[in-house]
Amino acid sequence: MSKEYKRKRNLYNPESLKPYKISRSKIELFIECPRCFYTDRKLGVGRPRGFPFNLNSAVDELLKNEFDQYRAKGTPHPLIHKNGIDAIPHQIKELDVWRQNFKGVQYHDTQTNLLLHGAIDDLWINSDGELIVVDYKATSKKDKIDRLNDTWHITYKRQMEIYQWLIDKNGYSVSNTGYFVYCNADRSRQDFNNLLEFDVNVIPYKGSWSWVSSTIQDLHTCLNDDSVPAPSKYCEYCAYLDATSAVHKHI
Ligand code: SF4
Repeated sequence: MSKEYKRKRNLYNPESLKPYKISRSKIELFIECPRCFYTDRKLGVGRPRGFPFNLNSAVDELLKNEFDQYRAKGTPHPLIHKNGIDAIPHQIKELDVWRQNFKGVQYHDTQTNLLLHGAIDDLWINSDGELIVVDYKATSKKDKIDRLNDTWHITYKRQMEIYQWLIDKNGYSVSNTGYFVYCNADRSRQDFNNLLEFDVNVIPYKGSWSWVSSTIQDLHTCLNDDSVPAPSKYCEYCAYLDATSAVHKHI
C-alpha cells in the first residue's frame, strides 16, 4: 500500500506518533459491525456515502441561531421554560469548536493514542453547574414523537452518551440527563404554501457512559489485529456480497 494512499485514506498506523482520530460515528460503526469498521479504518474502504440531509441541517442551524439568542441574554429558551427544565443555554467559549464537525469535543486517550471526537449541537447548564448535552433532531413522521422507544433509537442514546463521556473526560461536571430537541414536520396539512410546520418536543434521556472506555479499548484491539473480524450475524449485505461473488464466478 503506497504512502500516498495511506495518507489520503487516513488509515490507522499503530507506529505513528500522531494520535489517530476516531469520530463518534466511527465508534458507532464499530459497535454495529467491527468488520465494516476495520475495512473502513484499516483497509481504507468505507461504506458508500449517503445523500446529505440538507433539510435536517437547515433545522439544526436555525435552532442553533435561536438558542444562541437566549445564550447571549443568559435566559432560558421558551422550550426550556415550557418543559420546566432547570437550565439555561450555556455560555462557554469552547462551544464554537465543540460544534464543529471534524473537531468537536476531543479527548486524547494516551493509553491507545486515539483522539476521540464528536460535535455537539448545544450545551445547557443547570443551577448545580452541571453541563447538559443537547442534540437536535428533525424528521417528519405521522405519529407524535415524545419518547425514544424504537429499537433503532439506541443509536441516538449512544450518541448522547459518547458526548457526555467526552465532556466528562475534558474535566467538566456533566449531568447524566441530556435532552433531544425533536422537531417533527407536519405532513397532514392540505397546502404547502412554502411552509413546513413542526411539532417540537424536548425529550429527556438519562445517559450512562460507563461502556464507552471499554469500547474504545476493544476498538483499539480490533485496529491492531491482523485478521479481519467476522461479519455481523444480523447484516444482510455480507451474505448478499458472498452470494453475488459466488454467482459472478460462474459468469
Ligand atoms: S456484515 Fe454488513 S456491516 Fe459488517 S462488514 Fe459486512 S456489510 Fe459491513
